Amino acid sequence: MSVVVGIDLGTTNSVVSYLKRGRAEVIPIDGKNIFPSVLSIRDGEIIVGSQAKARMMLSPETSVCSTKRDMGKDIAYDLGTEMFTPEDVAYYILKTIKEKAGSILEEKIDQAVITVPAYFTSEQREATKRAAERAGLNVLRLMPEPTAAALDYGIDQQRDQIIMVYDLGGGTFDISIMKVDKNEFEVLAVDGNSRLGGDDFDELICSRIYDKINDELGEDITSKKDKKYISALMKIRENAEKAKMDLSDLEEVEIIIPNLIDDYSFEMTLTRDEFNQLVEPLMEETIDKIYNVLKLANLTRDDIDRVLLVGGSTKMPIVKEKVRDSVKDPYVAPNVDEVVSRGAAIMAASLCVPETYDMAQINNEVNRTNEVNRVNEINGVNLDKKIIVKEKVVFTYGIDMLDENRKLYFRPIIKRGSTLPAKGAVLGYTSTPLQKSVVITIYRGESKSVKENQYLGELELDIVNVSEKNVPVCALFEIDENMIITFTSIEIPMTEEYRELMDSSGNDGGNMDVDLINKYLLEGKLKGKKIKIDAKAHLK
Ligand code: AMP
Repeated sequence: MSVVVGIDLGTTNSVVSYLKRGRAEVIPIDGKNIFPSVLSIRDGEIIVGSQAKARMMLSPETSVCSTKRDMGKDIAYDLGTEMFTPEDVAYYILKTIKEKAGSILEEKIDQAVITVPAYFTSEQREATKRAAERAGLNVLRLMPEPTAAALDYGIDQQRDQIIMVYDLGGGTFDISIMKVDKNEFEVLAVDGNSRLGGDDFDELICSRIYDKINDELGEDITSKKDKKYISALMKIRENAEKAKMDLSDLEEVEIIIPNLIDDYSFEMTLTRDEFNQLVEPLMEETIDKIYNVLKLANLTRDDIDRVLLVGGSTKMPIVKEKVRDSVKDPYVAPNVDEVVSRGAAIMAASLCVPETYDMAQINNEVNRTNEVNRVNEINGVNLDKKIIVKEKVVFTYGIDMLDENRKLYFRPIIKRGSTLPAKGAVLGYTSTPLQKSVVITIYRGESKSVKENQYLGELELDIVNVSEKNVPVCALFEIDENMIITFTSIEIPMTEEYRELMDSSGNDGGNMDVDLINKYLLEGKLKGKKIKIDAKAHLK
């Protein structure tokens, strides 16, 4: 038998859950509910999790952490004997979680919902999905972390409500507003920064420590390459994070690091007020995003019924204070580190129900009933209560086109607010006789002027039927449930066969019949050139 799980693949820690008799439960790996997202090499062997985290202190040059921040980037970490990309690290973490959770439950685990920050780019999402597939997991859905959190919170709620999820983790910040109506979750707006999280708060404390060391020793230890300095930086980072966490409960902490460099020991006092002042710019950035997301959703703070705090960094008292001042008193889930994974487990169970249900329908009635009971037994899900999550496209996507005066303008194809999955296509033409290729430039934004929108990429298409006349070219956007964006440009032959398709765009070059285009592409009648778009613009 196999069990479906929800995995919160976090910057700092990862958590895996499953649904047991209708309730989401965390599966403890190595005896703990949170699994450090750290990889290390020990005597040539790759280790991940708690062991790797412990090893990090001893051997920082053969260990790596917080790699989620680099996900989708073309980089690799050199750990001495081997190189690892961020995707490789995610693969080892997921593989270990899959194997260990499977042996704890004594079940096979081969399907999962994996959570990603709402503001992860298309490339980052794809890298996450590939890592999971390499680990032998069929990804039922890549789910935005705030939606997963809302699912865990909202699934027991009876009345309709508008909730805001403020999710500040180790490396990312997401803010979402969604409407929850029993089992239906509709995302109204999202904003965030995939490079802002607890690590940045730690880094500010580290800078304070470096300055003090610089004053006392007269050297900038951050620029040194010796092992003893690298190891000192690791110790400082660890102590900075500990001080930050302690300041969540205490008004003042002592940072003491004996024998930091040779016989030099470090000592410093940090009060919560000093810390709050230090991190004010980071906090302000998150508050600005709160106002922006309200604006995007066309709502005011009074429309928000609940604010949910999610992610380890929301344990900082300053977060609660700032959220209270800008919106309202937030609700803090009992196990703030686990809500995302639990929500993903609920979604995973819900997603795999219909498949089993359909399969069972093919068999006879007795088999079907047995199958349904089995699914209910494993997942505790009522088949009638399928969870519906409606994600929205948060920006308008389109291309540049020439108007009648041969001036460039932004032509939207998928509009902001469209429900996922979304698709759209427009028709354009080559602009000069005997034109051999067209370059279509892809943008995201709300302005009519391409210059004011965000450039996402471009695609050059060679024209096969070069002609004196203007050759029709179609630009097709598809955004799937996982927010992975595909752009295709297709030359449309000027024959009668494609008349219906051309007509579907109307006289104004409006949206074309996407299903018909896809049918022709599938049949091989039309040939397109495809790219996956890195929606870099999501980054900030
Ligand atoms: P997450 O990605 O949700 O697991 O959050 C990890 C981040 O939460 C890390 O940056 C931790 O330092 C931070 N964190 C965990 N516990 C606390 C705490 N008690 N106070 C402040 N930050 C914390």
